[in-house]
Parts: sequence; structure tokens; C-alpha cells
Amino acid sequence: MRIFCASIATETNTFSPLRTDISDFRESFYAGPGDHPETPTLCSAVFTVARARAKAEGWELVEGTATWAEPGGIVNRDTYEYLRDEVLAQLKAAMPVDGVVLGLHGAMVAQDYLDCEGDLLQSVRDIVGPDVVIGASFDPHSHLSAKRFNAADVLVAFKEFPHTDFVEAGAATVDLVLRTIRGEIKPVKAAFDCKMIEVLPTSREPMRSFVDRIKAMEGHDGILSVSVIHGFMAGDVPEIGSHVIVITDNKAGLAAQTAKDLGMELFGFRGTTRPDFITPDQAMAKLPDIIATPVVITDVWDNPGGGVPGDSTILLRKVMNSGLQNYAFGTIWDPMAVRICFSAGEGGVLPLRFGGKTSSTGGAPVDAVVRVKKLQRNSWQSFGDSIVPLGDCALIELPDGGEVILNSNRAQSFDPDLFANMGVDPKAKNYLFIKSTNHFYDAFAKIAGEIIYVNVQGPYPSDPKTNGYKHLTRKVWPIVDDPFAAAS
Ligand SMILES: [Zn+2]
Repeated sequence: MRIFCASIATETNTFSPLRTDISDFRESFYAGPGDHPETPTLCSAVFTVARARAKAEGWELVEGTATWAEPGGIVNRDTYEYLRDEVLAQLKAAMPVDGVVLGLHGAMVAQDYLDCEGDLLQSVRDIVGPDVVIGASFDPHSHLSAKRFNAADVLVAFKEFPHTDFVEAGAATVDLVLRTIRGEIKPVKAAFDCKMIEVLPTSREPMRSFVDRIKAMEGHDGILSVSVIHGFMAGDVPEIGSHVIVITDNKAGLAAQTAKDLGMELFGFRGTTRPDFITPDQAMAKLPDIIATPVVITDVWDNPGGGVPGDSTILLRKVMNSGLQNYAFGTIWDPMAVRICFSAGEGGVLPLRFGGKTSSTGGAPVDAVVRVKKLQRNSWQSFGDSIVPLGDCALIELPDGGEVILNSNRAQSFDPDLFANMGVDPKAKNYLFIKSTNHFYDAFAKIAGEIIYVNVQGPYPSDPKTNGYKHLTRKVWPIVDDPFAAAS
């Protein structure tokens, strides 16, 4: 038995002022055939899982390229075609194969390609023919097109947001493909369109119990896999929104009915799934009264993990004028300012302009006389089992004693070790300001006295009602109140 695996992944914010090209993939993560590290990345866990199974079970794994770009703007067409054609050439060279396993994100949009993963999966199907088993793992912040759904036999999304279960999803993808090849199961799948755009953190109710329940359904009564595609509101594509996928062992009616039942239940959660997102002024009024430190304050929309630059200065300006003491910001993206800090050296004092460079909506750059407290080449942070590169970083001290980490590689804030790795003891700070919607939660909740979610306006399209989607033609909530009534 021979199985081919590959991974091309990014999340495209079609509203972002950024653009994504091959250098973004190479900077974030690029591993040619055989070069994938021992540890998984968010979308490439199928590699490490398949390696272990191949070794234990005595079959042959043919590894193709694995690559990931930090979420950003629309992918350059040449870049997408280059990466796609590289993987397709590797697959052709590997033929004949019994199965193909792909680690995808599912929200990649390139110039002239609104559905990159559909295009890739269909291209793979065209090469291997109808009888070879194709499985793909997805991030739930993706889009479910008919093209990708029909081209793959097995589609599995991470169930948790924060995505603490990306390895389990990779393992489930590989396992279902193997069992299908061996004739143990016959996957029959159905999808249901929930007709809504919502943020669905699973670290809180009602999603917590929902996910626990769908996990318990798997492996019983012929249900092989249940996935919830949350959707990604910053991707302007026709299929935007939440979907439920159910895969059964050759039970079409059960798949369709279960997907519909769970999908309508999920639709019923609309408007109730998010924590309270308060305004920056509400946050600033509240902070001095909070005793349990460190208080973790997250800018939920200036989140590089959602494809925006991550250089907003709106919250920092408010903090600098507030009299708050003993605070740290991690991070503000500004490679040019980092470069200047490296020239100044540790201990250097200089007038620095930083942040606020890449959009008209993320606040103006900050000008301050700063002291360079620490410089670190290739700094990093953890995200579960994976290592997230932050590039060259500078820790600067502001006139009021506040500290800011400037980074060169865009990344959202995942783990307090992003501070520790720059010499800041996160537990000793009163206030930790970070940029992340929900992925920070697992690691930061362990040290936080309190967590505050702040709705800071900026380049992220955070309100579906006013985002102005050009490719959306379906009726979806919250743009219409009851899309199911409107459709009938
Ligand atoms: Zn995601």
C-alpha cells in the first residue's frame, strides 16, 4: 500500500491590506519532500500521524511538500499555481497510489481562484481517478464548496476553537482513509448549510457541550465523523458561513438527517456563542478596578491569525495616556522598527516611530523615545505542540515604563512564553495586552487573573452586515434575520 501526502495551507482575509506570495510561505513554514519536521504544524499533522502509522503497519508513505503561510491577504496567482503544480507533479511521480491525504486549511483565496482547495482537490482527483481514496483535514475557519466536498472521500475539520485538537483531526483523516482502502468502511457523507456567519469558540457554552456531544457520536451507530465548518467572515467567497459535515459507514439517510439536525441546532446558537466584546473605552474604564493580575486584554480583531497585519496602535495609544502601570504589549508587527532597534543595540535609547504602518484604519504610528531592553534573533512562541516563529524581535521600554514587543514575523499571540522568551515575566505584569480572537485562551487562561475581550475597530471586517460581500448571494444570518424562512 502506498499513500501520498502533502499540505498547502493558509487562511486568506480578502479584505486585508496585505498580499501573500511565495516568500510568506517560505517565511512561515516550507518543508520539501522528506523535510517535514518531527513535530506537526497546525495544518500538517497528517504527515507526522501518517509516518507513525506507516512505520507501525508496514506500508509506504510518499511525502510531498508541506507549506503554510501566516494568514494574510489574497494569494498571488503565480504563487498558488506554483505550489499546486509542485504537489501535483510529486503526486504524478508517486503514482500508482492507493490513497492521498492532504493537510489543508480551507480558506485560501488566490487571484482568480475563490476556491483554491476545491481546485487542488479536483486536480488530485483528476490525476488519481475515481477509485483512489482522498482524505483532507481542514481548519474549521474555512469554506465548504461543493467542488471540494465532491472531490474528497473524507473531510475532517478540527473540532476545537482554540484548535487544541489539530493532531486528532489529522489522525482521524489518516485513519478513515486507511480503513476505507482496507475495505473496512465505506464512507458516505452529507453536508448541511447552516446559513449563518458567527464566531464559535468552543472554550465556552453553548459550543462546549455541542462539541462534547458530537465527539461522543463518532464511532457509534454507523457515524464515522462529524465536523463543524465554522466559516471565516473575512473571506468573501460564495460559500461563506457555517456548515456541518457528517460521514457515515454507508448510511446516506443517516448522514443527511444527522447533518441537518446538528446544523439546525447550531443555527439556534446564533448570537449566543461569543464572550462579551467590550469597546476600548469600556476596557480602559474597567482595568484600574481589577485586582487579580495579570489581566489579559485581547484585541480580538487586530489578529494576524485572521489575516490582518497586527500593527494596530489604537489600544496602545489609549494605554499610554491612561496612567496604567506595569503593562506589556505582545506584539506589534513592525520589521522596520525592529531593524532600527537592532542597529541601536540593547540599552540604546532613541526616538522610534513604530506600528500603524499598513492600513488607514489601525491607528497612526506611535512616536516615543524608547529604550531597547532586549533583542532576540528568531524569537518564537508555543502553540500547543508546535513552535510559532516570531522572527527577529525587540523589546522596547516606553517613557511610562510600559513594554512593547515588536516582531518581524506576523503572528497572533498564542502563549505567554512569547513574553518570557523576550525576558518579560508575564506573571509579574499587571496588564498583558495581546492580539488574538480566541487561540490565546488555552495558554493564557492558565496565568490570567481576568480576561477582557476588546472590540477594536480596524482593518478586519468584523461585522457581516456591513462588510459588503461581493461574492455572497445566499441568504445568511445576520445579514437576514431568518435565512431559512427567506429561502422557503
Ligand atoms: Zn482556525
